[in-house]
Amino acid sequence: MTCFNPECQRCPRLVDFLGSLRKPYHDYFCAPVPAFGDVMPKLLIVGLAPGMHGANRTGRPFTGDFAGVLLYQTLYDLGLASLPTSKHADDGLQLFGVRITNAVKCLPPKNKPIAAEIHACNDYLQQEITCLANECQLLALGKIAHDAVLKSYGERLSAHVFSHAAAHTMPDGRTLFDSYHCSRYNTQTRRLTPTMFYDLLAHIDCLVNINNKSMLGLGDKS
Ligand code: SF4
Repeated sequence: MTCFNPECQRCPRLVDFLGSLRKPYHDYFCAPVPAFGDVMPKLLIVGLAPGMHGANRTGRPFTGDFAGVLLYQTLYDLGLASLPTSKHADDGLQLFGVRITNAVKCLPPKNKPIAAEIHACNDYLQQEITCLANECQLLALGKIAHDAVLKSYGERLSAHVFSHAAAHTMPDGRTLFDSYHCSRYNTQTRRLTPTMFYDLLAHIDCLVNINNKSMLGLGDKS
């Protein structure tokens, strides 16, 4: 389920930036990073953009750097991932009921995409959401991802204020949940603690039954 052109060149600044990295970082992915995870998810997690030495190196979202540490550990703790870590693209990691993507598919300089790049890539995010089954819900990691999801629906940003653990109803009936981004900065400053993140994901799992555990007789979250 690839909802974008892997050779996309819509953003000149990002195309130039990736081009400048290919020689010094010849073993890095340095291209638009596709979504990863369950092809029939019940939760789509939307991050910001690939990190220089993480997804941009490995070619898989939140893989190979600090950004994925809390995310994958929490998914593993909830039975939604086969491994507690995500170190490289061929580590065999599987996600159960979860898919992970980014609002911007290419590495931006200083991890900061400009508005035109978020706008250019939003078409791909919109396609990804359109491809989802009706029961699939959305989790935005950070305000930029939150705004990108709203933009993909054509919703007014002022109608849905970003707030950690908030839930917003989208026009198609899906719920958009918000979380602070699980970045190194947010976790080290304890703006986002492991307990906060676990509690939010567990709450969503209770509502959505992400991995269909009760159907498999694997547990009761009540
Ligand atoms: S960020 Fe998105 S729109 Fe821009 S070049 Fe990369 S894939 Fe294309």
